[in-house]
Amino acid sequence: MTARREITKKCPRQYAKAGNSDKGAGAQNCASQASGCAGGPAKSRSSTWRERRDDVSVDEQVNETIDWTEVQDAYGSAEAVPGLLDQAAGLPSDAGVWNDLWSRLCHQGTVYQASFLAIPALGEMARVTPPMPHSQALNLLAAIAGSTDVSGTPDTRVRYADVLASCLPAAEAYAAAAADDTDFCYALSVVAGLRGERAWHQVLTFLADGTVPGGCPECGEDLCVFLDTIPARVCLSWVEPPDGPELVLAKADTIEGYAQGMLVMAGRHSRGNVTHRLLALLGDGQCPACERPLSRGSLFGLGVDDAQEGPSKRR
Ligand SMILES: [Zn+2]
Repeated sequence: MTARREITKKCPRQYAKAGNSDKGAGAQNCASQASGCAGGPAKSRSSTWRERRDDVSVDEQVNETIDWTEVQDAYGSAEAVPGLLDQAAGLPSDAGVWNDLWSRLCHQGTVYQASFLAIPALGEMARVTPPMPHSQALNLLAAIAGSTDVSGTPDTRVRYADVLASCLPAAEAYAAAAADDTDFCYALSVVAGLRGERAWHQVLTFLADGTVPGGCPECGEDLCVFLDTIPARVCLSWVEPPDGPELVLAKADTIEGYAQGMLVMAGRHSRGNVTHRLLALLGDGQCPACERPLSRGSLFGLGVDDAQEGPSKRR
């Protein structure tokens, strides 16, 4: 597996990790097989979500009747999805239901037609969930919005920009309630996903671990950056101790764009270690393979392309 593939395939279910009533879903193996995720007991095409979606002030376009039997999820027909959404709304702590939803709607980071159509329902759940880390609805919503791997369907996420934006206060509450730096990084990832900053969304999930895979934009070599070592280093392998060239931290007052907002957010919440990781991520280094310079997150694909494609930029 290449480093770049790992970036796009890191299972977002890691967000919902142990430590809360939803932990069961997060603890599940992301490599669920179709046979084990055949959907919940609810099979009816008649969805209360269809009936509830009268929140036209959020996005009138999404208030439409959906024939879920004609919609595809990771396993084929998405007929079970509306029933699972209803179950999740009725009992948010039901780990099994969330496991099914993750498997069907964001399977190892890949999203489908049903994933997009589920955004309004997940948004409604995310908005009403009390501020707490690991909200399944919020994390799944952000994972769908932040996915860089769309399978078999046009990317219609721009239609739901208002729904996603309406969940940003919940994401801010998530950040404020973060128990530690790892949780805070996941909260940053959720914010990035909701804002359509997809490259950032992917990288921030790794930032939580302090070790981020990337690739040299010049020679294409798979690289790995260790952010928490002193100094931070860019290496050819994940094997510790890291022995690649040193990364010189970026200066905070030179950071602009989306990264600047994250630095501000980390500062507002007194997350000094996260600030350090971000500055290392955006620092200057050298490719250990071709020895060409690396800077400003170029080895992670952080650049104008993703920013221009994000829903928040299209509006
Ligand atoms: Zn190189």
